[in-house]
Amino acid sequence: MAVSSISTRPDDPTARPARAPRRPRGEGQWALGHREPLNPNERIKKDDDPLNVRARIETIYAHRGFAAIDPADLRGRFRWWGLYTQRKPGIDGGRTAVLEPHELEDEYFMLRVRIDGGQLSLAQLRTIAGISQEFARDTADITDRQNVQFHWIRIEDVPEIWRRLESVGLQTTEACGDCPRIVLGSPVAGVAEAEVVDPTPAIDEIVRRYVGNPEFSNLPRKFKTSISWLVDTPYEANDVAFLGVEHPEHGPGFDLWVGGGLSTNPMLAQRLGVWVPLAEVPDVWAGVVGIFRDYGYRRLRNRARLKFLVADWGVERFREVLEKEYLGRALLDGPAPALPTKPIDHIGVHPQSDGRRYVGAAPVVGRVSGGQLARLADVAEAHGSGRVRLTPYQKLLVLDVAPERTESLVAALRDIGLEARPSAWRRGTMACTGIEFCKLAIVETKARGEELVTRLEQRLRDFDADISIHLNGCPNACARTQVADIGLKGQLVVGPDGRQVEGFQVHLGGGLGMAAGQTAGFGRKLRGLKTTAEELPAYVERLARRYLAGRHEGE
Ligand code: SF4
Repeated sequence: MAVSSISTRPDDPTARPARAPRRPRGEGQWALGHREPLNPNERIKKDDDPLNVRARIETIYAHRGFAAIDPADLRGRFRWWGLYTQRKPGIDGGRTAVLEPHELEDEYFMLRVRIDGGQLSLAQLRTIAGISQEFARDTADITDRQNVQFHWIRIEDVPEIWRRLESVGLQTTEACGDCPRIVLGSPVAGVAEAEVVDPTPAIDEIVRRYVGNPEFSNLPRKFKTSISWLVDTPYEANDVAFLGVEHPEHGPGFDLWVGGGLSTNPMLAQRLGVWVPLAEVPDVWAGVVGIFRDYGYRRLRNRARLKFLVADWGVERFREVLEKEYLGRALLDGPAPALPTKPIDHIGVHPQSDGRRYVGAAPVVGRVSGGQLARLADVAEAHGSGRVRLTPYQKLLVLDVAPERTESLVAALRDIGLEARPSAWRRGTMACTGIEFCKLAIVETKARGEELVTRLEQRLRDFDADISIHLNGCPNACARTQVADIGLKGQLVVGPDGRQVEGFQVHLGGGLGMAAGQTAGFGRKLRGLKTTAEELPAYVERLARRYLAGRHEGE
């Protein structure tokens, strides 16, 4: 039997004074008075609004060069303007966790351009292409959040890049950082036959009112949004999402979801059960962001996403706080939207609501070049189109094509390496930035993704099922590890000779609502289910062959 060393007898001379009960430690919520900086990230934001760093870039750093940059700006506040230092070439994944940040980073930057809703005019596309060719060594990756990322950017060139982007209505403001990131939208907003309400005005209004606004420039962590009528974005993986739904009495509006996020501790967004008309979407969105700013957890960085608050509060309390404290009125109850049973990625030729067509095409794992984008603009223009859209699956669409021009467009896209009739492998494979440029990476992803697609196209060209393969360079799951048929999380694994080599932990059978019908869920992460990177193509081929051999009629 255990004996307590603390006597409770008042006359015991050996007694130690009983400790006062320890107060539960706060989570760093501003609304509860926990305002003191609680970790280095909170300190950086408190010392100076990160939005202010732009002036220093323009007036000091761009003139004096990389060495003059204050470390708190370099590794902290620069992100609010879309800038991350990129990984120094040649540092293997085994050293990611042991090196100091300054040892890992290069003097070049990744620069992310926010393209809310993925909507680009040809002038914007040409501007991006030109910047890529002139300042970014021809790099331009399409991300799975409808952004474009440049690499090899020098600090000296950043003001001129901003000038060019802003001259065509693009920006890098809050493309990264603890703030409202790019708003995901349907790539076919405004042209889809099945769309009842185009939510683009709400997206534009949110960006106009709140992006770059100090009101929301200090959130506990990043904040991701999706607003679409169609279920063609990975809405459940966002902090807030609005999905189109018809209310039986009030007509078309949006169903509100909160608290989604992947990374470590993945959680899917949950419905609040409310119906929001289009005109009210920006205010309701701001209410949700306000809750996150005021009640979000700031003490521990790994608990600072909205999903943890939603998990602790539950949706009833979240709705109540939103209505009472932030909107000052009750929201209407609303029905659940219908969810499709197959992913909608818009690849191929499809009719628009105005009788014209849009064509969706696949690069390989989102990798394109500035030269390719410049040619894309020419090809689109030659086929009568003035608009291109990026998708949250690292693909792109050309809109507004006359029906009789689509086959010519498909052929012209193929000539520039964009495939409108891709193999299942090319269509379904995504990859995050990985070790080529990302300081957090453990393994290579883009080149391995390309190699994987090539090998599988050679070995299983006629594979006829929809399949999603998401390669991630570390546990952060930027390419949504947990919601793919085959989700790959980069890590070091033991190779055939007993030494550690690059590899992946495998998650099988995940899917978001659109991929998994009504039952969104995470792939199963099985202990021991790992492959070396070298073995990956053979591993996926074995899985695919086993699936083909065992699938049921019509599956
Ligand atoms: Fe970098 Fe990891 Fe995100 Fe890939 S998943 S981009 S390696 S942080």
